[in-house]
Amino acid sequence: MKLEKVLIANRGEIALRVLRACRQLGLKTVAIHSTADKDLMHVKLADETVCIGPASPKESYLNIPSIIAAAEATGASAIHPGYGFLSENADFAEMVEKSGFIFIGPTADTIRLMGDKVSAKKAMIKAGVPCVPGSDGALGNDIEENMRLAREIGYPIIIKAAGGGGGRGMRVVRTEAELKESIDLTKREADMFFNNPAVYMEKFLENPRHIEFQVLSDSYGNAVYLGERDCSMQRRNQKVLEEAPAPFITQEQREAIGSRCAQACVNIGYRGAGTFEFLYENGEFYFIEMNTRVQVEHPITEMITGIDIVREMIKVSAGEPLSIKQEDIKLRGHAFECRINAEDPKTFMPSPGEITRLHVPGGPGVRWDSHIYQTYKVPPHYDSLVGKLIIHDDTRELAIARTRGALEELIIDGIKTNIPLHIDLLTDPVEIAGGASIHYLEDKLKKEEK
Ligand code: ADP
Repeated sequence: MKLEKVLIANRGEIALRVLRACRQLGLKTVAIHSTADKDLMHVKLADETVCIGPASPKESYLNIPSIIAAAEATGASAIHPGYGFLSENADFAEMVEKSGFIFIGPTADTIRLMGDKVSAKKAMIKAGVPCVPGSDGALGNDIEENMRLAREIGYPIIIKAAGGGGGRGMRVVRTEAELKESIDLTKREADMFFNNPAVYMEKFLENPRHIEFQVLSDSYGNAVYLGERDCSMQRRNQKVLEEAPAPFITQEQREAIGSRCAQACVNIGYRGAGTFEFLYENGEFYFIEMNTRVQVEHPITEMITGIDIVREMIKVSAGEPLSIKQEDIKLRGHAFECRINAEDPKTFMPSPGEITRLHVPGGPGVRWDSHIYQTYKVPPHYDSLVGKLIIHDDTRELAIARTRGALEELIIDGIKTNIPLHIDLLTDPVEIAGGASIHYLEDKLKKEEK
């Protein structure tokens, strides 16, 4: 099928990001939106718009029949799911393709394979990707056997739901006495939240960093890796500040892990943009999961590689071969992304409302990916991300200084934002040194509370 018109099944900054890529490729766009989102920037810019339901995501951005109906009514040829919402829902991908549209992402089968963490891990081990030591698949009911396994791995261990996501469905176990109850509890939770009671066991890493590899893959067995990102600055498993490349990772490590991720893509018939997430501790990488979609933090990789990831994912999903070869990918300089949220910088309470004044920084190496504008009202119904400040410079040190300067220039009035938190982080000696663990930000915030 020829790609002519893309329906964007998302909202906010990523919907605008996808619209920009479509425009550049000469593709027509359809914006779907909820009743609360008629004033979104990409809705104003799209060739066609369809209101698909009320504010509640369940009745709009998660409403599969309404989205398919909108694609049919507007004669769209493809659907881009963005991130979040239906982007990793295999049933949605399947319905999209069965209804005769292109799903801009991998096939439903691949999403299913990688969405189950047990089968994902098996596929990774097969491709030689290093994983966290753990059970060989889902845990059985034999407690003696599970105890033996935990002893062999060594405490602390973590019990995780095979179908888990969003940081839910896991439990750390520090002693044998807690093991049985922890497995039973996690199973029950997994069944309740994810409709899949299967759980597995992993070694619990105490102080890891979060490092992830970006890949791009086509339908003809070509796959490349675009280096890695360090996303260790997190609060409640939510990334706050990301950078690329990851500090202190050598070119040999990058090549070793990156090439195995690319090989895994070829093995599983992956199509589109994807991310392999790893925990990194004591010089070793441990795969934890794959995200089968474009990620919030993709721009920092775009900045250091010069590759438009969203444009490439649209092209390969439309059946084009990948135009980039691994040897053409050269990393240049260093990039940071600050996630600017509509929230109180101290209490983190969401802060929806009208943007009364907006001033965005500029200059070389400064990029602002955002849907907000002066007089725009941030609705209370959705994620609090209002913009991403993305900075590039030749070295990490220069990029830090440039990010700080840009943050000082950025003015968003009318709502509260976490800009002060970012300014604080970019003057923090541990952040400046690089290589902090995933617990650093939470620990820092706790100390400041006291
Ligand atoms: P989700 O799909 O819910 O995001 P992940 O498998 O990506 O689940 O894990 C989310 C977070 O939980 C990780 O970023 C890490 O902070 C923690 N985590 C998961 N597995 C381990 C482990 N084996 N050791 C230590 N922390 C872990």
